[in-house]
Amino acid sequence: MLVVETKNEVRSLVDSWREAGERVALVPTMGALHEGHLSLVDVVRAHATRVVATIFVNPLQFAPGEDFDTYPRDFEGDLSKLKKRGCDACFTPERASLFADDFSTTVSVAGVGENHCALTRPHFFDGVATIVTKLLMITRPDIAVFGEKDFQQLAVIRRFVRDLDIDVEIVGAPIVRESDGLAMSSRNLYLSGSERAAAPALFKALSAAADAARNALWADIGVQVEADLRAAGFSKVDYVHLVDRDSLVDIDRADRPARILAAAWMGETRLIDNVAAGPTRND
Ligand code: AMP
Repeated sequence: MLVVETKNEVRSLVDSWREAGERVALVPTMGALHEGHLSLVDVVRAHATRVVATIFVNPLQFAPGEDFDTYPRDFEGDLSKLKKRGCDACFTPERASLFADDFSTTVSVAGVGENHCALTRPHFFDGVATIVTKLLMITRPDIAVFGEKDFQQLAVIRRFVRDLDIDVEIVGAPIVRESDGLAMSSRNLYLSGSERAAAPALFKALSAAADAARNALWADIGVQVEADLRAAGFSKVDYVHLVDRDSLVDIDRADRPARILAAAWMGETRLIDNVAAGPTRND
């Protein structure tokens, strides 16, 4: 696996592959890789002949006081996992090479980027949209893959790629979970033993809510889910919303393809998860 640090190098590499008729996929990550990240490599393998991962802890998506400094980092371990998984290259840019001192441009997505997670993390999607735009412009892949674990993020990326006519196919990949249902996340490393034991309650509550949503109004179910999460040890529930699967607009009954999105705090750790609801739940 080639490890590439500069913009010029990665761009020439991808260009040379594309000129040779190869189809190149991009897998952007912030590192501390787990099976969820690595599954993205497998998913795009079905669509591409070359896979380029990126590892960059993006400062733009952390607000002051959030966990940028303590975010888990395991660079050598990550490279060895990507290599074993058959990745062709890994782009690991230096922060200074991406952001000039007077860097001053933001990609901001209205609507789909303004509710749910944005209510408590207003800076977040601008940070994601800006760095993903840069990574797509630098590497110019045919296809890029993002996990449904970050369902709103995937919707935001699909929206700005369409709106800005960026010539790339965006593919969503299913959520990879631990055997007890907890969605894999680099931040699960923050959980203490007892927090880790309690955390699968998030997926359980969302799954039960998706079943209940077949026959009841969301207003009643949502209140119950929040109460169940608190009873299971979550200290704070940022939100639990039933939304239209494509527009992410809040809806009050699951009478169309829908998603239940949630963010809740287990101690000092904010966990997010989501499940399908509505007619396509068991597809
Ligand atoms: P991150 O390093 O957290 O920015 O994640 C990089 C990519 O991996 C994003 O597209 C995430 O949605 C995806 N991802 C993270 N965790 C999972 C998971 N448990 N299942 C599937 N994809 C995931």
